[in-house]
Amino acid sequence: MSVIKLLSPRLANQIAAGEVVERPASVLKELVENALDAGAGHIDVDVEQGGVKLIRVRDNGSGISKEDLPLALSRHATSKIASLEDLEAVGSLGFRGEALASISSVSRLALTSRTEEQEAANKVEVEGRDMDARLSPAAHPVGTTVEVRDLFFNTPARRKFLRTEKTEFGHLEECLRRQALGRFDTGFTLRHNQKVVQSLRPAPTQLDKERRIGALCGQKFIDNAVVIDAEATGLRLWGWVALPTFSRSQADLQYFFVNHRVIRDRLVAHAVRQAYRDVLYNNRHPAFVLYLEVDPATVDVNVHPTKHEVRFRDGRLVHDFIFRTLHKALADVRPDDHLRGVM
Ligand code: ADP
Ligand code: MG
Repeated sequence: MSVIKLLSPRLANQIAAGEVVERPASVLKELVENALDAGAGHIDVDVEQGGVKLIRVRDNGSGISKEDLPLALSRHATSKIASLEDLEAVGSLGFRGEALASISSVSRLALTSRTEEQEAANKVEVEGRDMDARLSPAAHPVGTTVEVRDLFFNTPARRKFLRTEKTEFGHLEECLRRQALGRFDTGFTLRHNQKVVQSLRPAPTQLDKERRIGALCGQKFIDNAVVIDAEATGLRLWGWVALPTFSRSQADLQYFFVNHRVIRDRLVAHAVRQAYRDVLYNNRHPAFVLYLEVDPATVDVNVHPTKHEVRFRDGRLVHDFIFRTLHKALADVRPDDHLRGVM
């Protein structure tokens, strides 16, 4: 007798959801990434009750056509890559074609969208994947709105792990902070329980960028930061690093982006720590917001489903470049430089 059975698509999606959907903030991350990949100029986020009751992300990006709407909710369905070559040089934030399938298997999801070519918008709705997707006409400007309600309503074991509204909202805010730091050319609005919590216009100039950093990371950080901008063959590193006098007791103000994607990487962390070694006490942590731009083909982002980790083809080169750039910038700081923001 055969004992091996194929999992139902719903169960397969719920299992996959375990990897990417841990809490409301993980849903927000995936939805905002999709909006950014669609070229949105502005992203509007509404959350209720720490995101457990509602997460709504509205964008003015390219939109999804009527034919593609049900496909967008299918597993392993993506418009972003079609081949291994594409994957190896992927420039978009998404490419696994799993997020919407996973999220819709553990929530009540509605996806409304309209493309430039379409006269009217369309909407698909699914509830924990218990039924086929319902498609209906809808009103919506060009762009997309994804509404995720009652997260984990059908997976009580996961729901139990959710924290208080305040804690979950803290994670949502941190998620949006990362996205907004990663994309200065996009505007963001965040509302919690109908109150505007964060409102950021696109930040094209250096001054606009520093204002946004001030709004997201605190004015004190930007007032005490050294501007970084360096290039080497195929690499560019730019951003802001805090003066050693603005060190922190926790590693809570450290943002490192590789091609717009926020990452945590041991090699990068080591390079930064080394650069600060002579100027920071042992138990203190540097603060920084840094952007590394590299040829996408020289970095592998397909290391983990959440894509928080990357692998550099030439890790040594990247490490040395970061170390040298920061070390020099910190050594060049003149004693009165830190007064920059005070004057
Ligand atoms: P991935 O982002 O890895 O492709 P997702 O499950 O997140 O997978 O999304 C599936 C597909 O749905 C995307 O490839 C894209 O074509 C479409 N899509 C999702 N969200 C949006 C959006 N906000 N705007 C335009 N298209 C979207
Ligand atoms: Mg995606």
